[in-house]
Amino acid sequence: MVKICCIGAGYVGGPAMAVLALKCPAIEVAVVDVSRPRIDAWNSDRLPVLEPGLDAVVRACRGRNLSISADVDRHVADADIVFVSVNTPTKASGLGEGRAPDLAYWESAARVVAAAAASSRSGAKNTVVVEKSAVPVRTAEAMERILVAHGGCAFEVVSNPEFFAEGTAVRDLLCPDRVLIGGRDTDAGRSAVRALRDVYAHWVPEDRILTTSLWSAELSKVAANAFLAQRVSSVNAISALCEATGADVSDVARAVGGDGRVGGGFLSAGVGFGGPRLQKDVLCLAYACECNGVPEAAEYWRQVVAVNEYQKSRFVRRVVSSMFSTVAGKKVAVLGLAFKKGVGDTRGSPAVDVCRGLLGDGAHVSVYDPMVSEKQARRDTAAAAGKGKGAVHVARDAYEAAQGAHGLCVLTEWDEFRALDYRRVFDGMQRPAFVFDGRNVVDVGKLREIGFVVYAVGKPLDDWLSKSTRN
Ligand code: NAD
Repeated sequence: MVKICCIGAGYVGGPAMAVLALKCPAIEVAVVDVSRPRIDAWNSDRLPVLEPGLDAVVRACRGRNLSISADVDRHVADADIVFVSVNTPTKASGLGEGRAPDLAYWESAARVVAAAAASSRSGAKNTVVVEKSAVPVRTAEAMERILVAHGGCAFEVVSNPEFFAEGTAVRDLLCPDRVLIGGRDTDAGRSAVRALRDVYAHWVPEDRILTTSLWSAELSKVAANAFLAQRVSSVNAISALCEATGADVSDVARAVGGDGRVGGGFLSAGVGFGGPRLQKDVLCLAYACECNGVPEAAEYWRQVVAVNEYQKSRFVRRVVSSMFSTVAGKKVAVLGLAFKKGVGDTRGSPAVDVCRGLLGDGAHVSVYDPMVSEKQARRDTAAAAGKGKGAVHVARDAYEAAQGAHGLCVLTEWDEFRALDYRRVFDGMQRPAFVFDGRNVVDVGKLREIGFVVYAVGKPLDDWLSKSTRN
């Protein structure tokens, strides 16, 4: 029986290994982590990751061929294939602060693999080490050096980055657009790639399993996220020009995306991209360009992040300037804190940055998100408030959030925000009642008929806004 171990029971390691175990009943899969609470949660009825369909997958194979354990060393030593799926956040301090990925967790995992493999039940065994984490190009070389330095074990490093999207992780894992495996062009490298390919071939069609060099696979992961981010920044840059000229960004995006060479995905203008990965991976790519002597390319990618920052701050400016250039002491409802609909994840969410801007100007922010817990919302907004003068209230629904508010910001594209009874919302708000739609979910015409002053990203401004605000 092939034994697989995955270091890191996070958003990626947990779901990816659960699906692997489901599809390969003859493979024994162990997911290990240093975090005891995480392990306990994976072994409970309240999984630490909320993804549609995940509970059923875990229930089907936990205790059969899937185990989740804190016994890192034993499972790593026993495994034929070791996935490394630990976090690689952007560095918060030191060299490359705010730009380079922090590889401390990754290095600690590499050392665990080296030590365990060296003392494994069969020193001659050829362990395949799989990079699942998003890492800078040529990181595998560092992994190889650490493994060699420990001696005593035979190994081969391959890269197999994960492309699933949060909110559709299980569906994407069961039916991926592609699986990418990169390895060395040597006999041992090709054999390691084949071993991993054989695992995925249990459920992924052959033509969707792409094999490349190690460096191409590593680079493809951050490049894919950078391309997604770049599309959002491109359409957001157009949205600013639309507002200045009276064009409608939805019309422009439909016309541009209708060209088969461009395609229509990821062309929704809004308050900016967010989440734990896009910005981190664009910065990682820019840093790699910088470190590899291509500063012009680095500057290009940094502009993708700069436009995203511009889009968020321009939204806050629009809110403040529309409301007579001050929100101090005014209640502003914030609908949506998650970085996108379908998830309860607020990491890197533009909604949190907008709250920071409003609180900094002294607003009283009333937040509601259907999937973000009150505790989480309080934690995020408290961090956002910093030294700002504003106050935060977490509401139980959108109507409570909007009651008595001067303005209402829609910051996550939840379907329920489309379907609100906006007449009722209007009746409960101060006059003039402002709506600032950062996700283009409301029916602008209908809301203006009700009496709202409406701003929607990239849409023609109504008279009030074009007279009273500057972009
Ligand atoms: P995460 O923070 O949710 O999980 C990482 C886990 O690794 C944590 O539970 C941590 O305790 C554990 N860990 C860290 N060092 C360890 C060690 N030495 N030994 C054992 N456990 C250790 O991170 P994640 O979201 O799963 O992301 C993992 C990687 O996958 C990142 O590089 C990320 O960029 C990439 N990625 C994430 C997503 C996503 O949707 N979250 C999608 C694709 C790729």
